[in-house]
Amino acid sequence: MNAIPDLTQGERERILAKSALFDPPDAALADGRRDLVGMTREELGVELAAIGEKPFRVKQLWHWIYHQGATDFARMSSIARPLQEKLAERFVIGRPDPVVVQTSTDETRKFLFRFRDGQEAETVYIPDPQEDRGAVCISSQVGCTLSCRFCHTGTQTLVRNLGAPEIVGQFMAARDSYGEWPSPKGETPRLLSTIVLMGMGEPLYNYANVAKAMTIVMDGEGIGLSRRRITLSTSGVVPMMDRAGAELGVNLAVSLHAVTNELRDELVPLNRKYPIEELIAACKRYPGSSNARRITFEYVMLKGINDTDADARELIRLIAGLPAKVNLIPFNPWPGSRYETSTPAAVSRFARIVNDAGISAPVRTPRGRDISAACGQLKTESRRERANAP
Ligand code: SAH
Ligand code: SF4
Repeated sequence: MNAIPDLTQGERERILAKSALFDPPDAALADGRRDLVGMTREELGVELAAIGEKPFRVKQLWHWIYHQGATDFARMSSIARPLQEKLAERFVIGRPDPVVVQTSTDETRKFLFRFRDGQEAETVYIPDPQEDRGAVCISSQVGCTLSCRFCHTGTQTLVRNLGAPEIVGQFMAARDSYGEWPSPKGETPRLLSTIVLMGMGEPLYNYANVAKAMTIVMDGEGIGLSRRRITLSTSGVVPMMDRAGAELGVNLAVSLHAVTNELRDELVPLNRKYPIEELIAACKRYPGSSNARRITFEYVMLKGINDTDADARELIRLIAGLPAKVNLIPFNPWPGSRYETSTPAAVSRFARIVNDAGISAPVRTPRGRDISAACGQLKTESRRERANAP
């Protein structure tokens, strides 16, 4: 039997209940119309039934919204004009508002999205230089409750969770920006073919909305991304890891960053609650991991802090036996950050030691640093308004 017991269902429920306190306000517009984006098929069915429409309309609308990327009911040629008008009176197909869009010299593109209540979060598209595709890095919260010492988002108090419409909406709006919906001829270019939940916030502290959004994104009759094309990164919310694995089955990335509890307590304060041993045990239990589908350990390289040979050797010992790879991320500085990036020599030494142990340890080339779009550089001006809010 595993020496470390699984965390109780009670703890998971506590996390979910606390998270719900930070959920976004009702998605209805000021004029009462409701946004169809982010509803499950069942919810869509309920909305349509309420206006006297038959269940088969769900499939039809789903195709227009998530496969064709339509935002205007008038474009839905398989739906008769009177119904198009009836739908437009009651519903919208929304998108977050891209208030600032910046493109880096390396082609990385960062979006500052404003949501209906004025709160903002960032999304980044990172093209793969080797392939004709890339990853969309999506935010799950405005701000973050955790305050990892090397992360800019961690200096922004949690304002609120993003709702499923806002999480799916980031991906859809990024696709709009690249004109990536099918052309009338049916050709479907697909640059934006991967999702990494590595933007602002801790996705496992907003599990319900993230799970709903990913279920919509994975639906084969819509956006249709397979779970293998989605990676969820967590700083180590152990009780929610099993659940994410069982219910979503997406790839897992774990922000490890330190190999002793003493240092990790300082760098990733969540470690005080779920220490390294519990985190590694949760990785060992993570459903569906295999050599073909390895867990990624993210390791930020901080000069003089976590980049010695001894650190590399301890890392190997910790993850031995796990189907794992290590992403070495040179620290990305931000205004006021207290760390320095490890020297290139230290990074390659570290990488060589880990690689020599048979564990793949690529060094991540920083992307989009010139527009503050790289890992850990995201932050917005949004603030939580009521100081006494939960
Ligand atoms: N909250 C989640 C996902 C978002 S952060 C998590 O922590 O895993 C995505 C990755 O960027 C994490 O591995 C995070 O630790 C890393 N990161 C944060 N700040 C960074 C910085 N300044 N430089 C490099 N990587 C950083
Ligand atoms: Fe939050 Fe992740 Fe940044 Fe830590 S690294 S503060 S968990 S966003």
